[in-house]
Order: sequence, then structure tokens, then C-alpha cells
Amino acid sequence: MRISLSGSLLLGLLVLLSQAPAKQPNIVVFLVDDMGVMDTSVPLLTDDNGQAQRYPLNDYYQTPSMERLAAQGTRFNQFYAMSVCSPTRISILTGQNAARHRTTNWINPKQDNGGKYGPPEWNWAGLNQQDVTLPRLLASLGYTTIHVGKGHFGPEQHEGAEPLNLGFQTNVAGAAFGAPGSYYGKQNYGHGTQRAHHAVPHLEAYHGSDTFLTEALTIEAKKCVDNAVQKEQPFFLYFAHYAVHAPFDSDPRFADAYRDSGKPANAQAFATLIEGMDKSLGDMLDHFEQLGIAEDTLIFFLGDNGSDAPLGHQHAVACAAPLRGKKGAHYEGGMRVPFIAAWAAPSETSVVQQGWKIPNGRIETHMASVMDLFPTILELAGSQAPVDHPLDGHSLHRLLTGEQDERHPKTFLMHYPHAPHRSNYFTVYRDGDWKVVYHTLPQEPTSGGHIQFEDGNYELFNLAEDPFESTNLASQQPARLRQMMQAMITALGDHQAVYPIDADGNELRPQLP
Ligand code: CA
Repeated sequence: MRISLSGSLLLGLLVLLSQAPAKQPNIVVFLVDDMGVMDTSVPLLTDDNGQAQRYPLNDYYQTPSMERLAAQGTRFNQFYAMSVCSPTRISILTGQNAARHRTTNWINPKQDNGGKYGPPEWNWAGLNQQDVTLPRLLASLGYTTIHVGKGHFGPEQHEGAEPLNLGFQTNVAGAAFGAPGSYYGKQNYGHGTQRAHHAVPHLEAYHGSDTFLTEALTIEAKKCVDNAVQKEQPFFLYFAHYAVHAPFDSDPRFADAYRDSGKPANAQAFATLIEGMDKSLGDMLDHFEQLGIAEDTLIFFLGDNGSDAPLGHQHAVACAAPLRGKKGAHYEGGMRVPFIAAWAAPSETSVVQQGWKIPNGRIETHMASVMDLFPTILELAGSQAPVDHPLDGHSLHRLLTGEQDERHPKTFLMHYPHAPHRSNYFTVYRDGDWKVVYHTLPQEPTSGGHIQFEDGNYELFNLAEDPFESTNLASQQPARLRQMMQAMITALGDHQAVYPIDADGNELRPQLP
């Protein structure tokens, strides 16, 4: 009995190991703040045949390094993030949906910002020293774990404010806040200015210089990589740019290219932040080549929520056109982000890439989300989530290597029981072609003025026929609406979600129509 048990354990271990590369790869998560799926010259949306389709915004933004990465890897046409910062960042580090880890809103560093009716049990404090996190697990597997850029995992005076408490061995520039004080070296990245409460730490060497924040972080990221390579250890680099989050400080290196675009000054500045971020990506790719580690290094490029481009109203087709909505909103423009996975140098003969060959220039049309990074990266490193860690993400291994994966979910739950933001107190549930939005308080004022939804609490869209959410089918398709709402309610229960509370202390759970 004992022998057969060990035998099956051994077999399980061998199956597990067979999915891992022969040697641990270096892993880079290149995370861009507030970059939506349309903020790039790489077309990420597709036509009915799954072929890349360009839209005018693809011609406005200039991202040659992303084009380079997309040409040597696989990109996804419907990749979901949460609609604001901290929920996504904690989902990446835990593999859990925000409804489960309960950091369902961005974290205000100074005070609990759950909102007037926000659930008291929501996780404003974010991550702590005891939490199972991706960098902690990777460190235990022999990785050097590096944090460069924006943290936003916990408020001031809490453990999550410091990435070193979360499994990272190095932290450059990570803190409790999200937006940088300033992108300018001449303004000391916010130190000594009116925005000193968001002053970016650890970059004193660049104070007073012309070095733009994105550039300073890139130089620092290269140094951290150099140190890991010298130690001959695989590294996990979580490189989370402050760009392209507001303030929209124009990057003078790229401003000329957008001067005649006819776009407003802040939208031009936004485009320079995008291009500076893109240069950083190219610089990192070049650096991996110079170090001779490009074949051993896998890059996951993504955004943390929908676009924040200042191009129009938050619920219109404008900022992420042709998608409707932007960061914070319940429409697709609020939660669809770029996602590209590629080896820094694809190779047919690389031992490290064995079993993980990623087709070049391919577009994957299966739905996926930020929660999937955690199990994917652990599998790459030859491990998996601890058995007692509830996991909502699913490994992308098969989809990345060009195989079908019908077991990979075609559902996405996005729960935002908070206010005030661009949309308030809402839950989105996507299942296949269908998407339902539940508005707990449809009459509640938003930061953009009062919004009245024609069908009260409900919006229903068929994204196959109406990908840009022009027609609310809630009143026309009552049976489908009821079915989708039932599925949403079940999913919220499965994730042990918490709900808004009204003035009398009653829980405001989604209601069936
Ligand atoms: Ca963000």
C-alpha cells in the first residue's frame, strides 16, 4: 500500500515536472499602469476570423518594441483585468479574483476608501507578510525576486506598503501609492513639491537630472538583472511602470511626434508616456541579448486596467475606441488590457524553451485574465500553488503553446462594490458571448455626473454580435438576463464575495430580475 502510494506520488511529480522547462527560465512581468488594449500600435482586437484588425488609435500610438515583442510571441485579443489598480496587482500576486481576495477597490494610502455603502469586510489593508504570494513562492524555488516600479499593494503603515514584506528581495521605487508625484527628475519625482505625498522613493541618484521616471526605472531594472545574473540565479523581475498613470507629464523625448496630431495636450502627453514605456521594453530586450540570457527569459507584457487615455467621456466610445468605456467603467474599455507573452529570443534549440515554445506573431482568441499569470508562472518554475491556497486563475500553458484548451474558462467575474469612481457599485459577469452588468444603485451619482440606465439595475450585451456594447438587451431578452444573473450570483457566492451595505445595515446582494 505504502509503495503504491509513493509510486502514484512519484508519477504525479513526474507529470508535474514534465510540464516545466528543463532549466528554470527567467521570468519578467512587464506591467504598465492604466494601459488599455487600444493604447498601442499593435492591433490587439480581431475581426470575425480572428485576424488582427487595426483601428485609428493603433495609428496614433507608436510602440515599436511592443510590435517586436508581438512578432516573436503570442498576444491575446480578449484579456481581462480588474477595472482599477490594486485589485489587479493583488490578483497577479495571488492568482485570485478580487471578489475573493477582497481588495476590490484601489487602495487609498491614507484612509479606508470603501465608499459610502462599501462592504466593511473589504480588504483595504491589501497584502501582508503572511499571504501566499507569487514572489514568495518563486523565492522558495531559488529565484531572485525583484520589484521595480509601482507597488500599491497596501496602505501606509501597513505591511503591504513595502514590497519587501511580500516576497520580493529587492524593491526599487515601490510604495503604498499609485500615481507618481512627478515623472521629472528635475522635480525629484515629487520630493519637495506639492505632490510630495506621492514622491517616488529610492531614486535620489537621478534627482535634479533630466532623467524621466520611466528611464530611471529602466536603468535600475537593468542593474537588478545584472546582479541576479552575476549570482547565476534565475530571476523574477516584476517591472511595474508608473507610466502611463496620471499626472500626464509630457515626456520631452517623444513630444514632437504628437504635436500635429490634433489631439488635446494631455492626450499627446499620454502618448509620450506610452512611447517612453515602449522604449523601456525595447531597452530591456536589448539588455537581455547583451547579457546572453534572452533565450532563457520569458516576458509577460500587460496592462493593469482599462485605458485612462484622456480622449472623451468615460462611458462613451472614445478613450479605448472602438471599445466603449475606460478605466473604472463597467464597459469593456474599463477592463480589457494588452497581453503579450514571448521569449526575449525565441529559439528552436533552447533547452529552457522546451515544452514552452510560443508561436511567433500569433493571436490567441481564447478569453484569459490577470489571475492566470500566477499558475502559469509557477508551472514555468516547476511548481504549483499550495493545496490550501484557493486559486481562481488557470495556467495558460496550452494556450501559449498554440494548443486548444477547452478546459480554460470562458467566464470572467469583476466585482466593484464601491464608490465614487467612473462607475459605482457594479458587478460584471461574462460567460462566452454574453455579458451582464448589475448596478446595485443605478441612480447613484458618479464622478462624471448622474447616470441613468434605461433598464434600471441591468445591462445585457451579446459581445459576439455587439462587441462595442451599443445595445442593452436586458428588456428584450428576459430569459437570458435571468440566466446570466443567476450565474453571476452563483459565481459571487463561489468566490465568497462581500456586498455593499445600505444605511440600515442591509446587504445589497444582486437581485434576479
Ligand atoms: Ca492602474
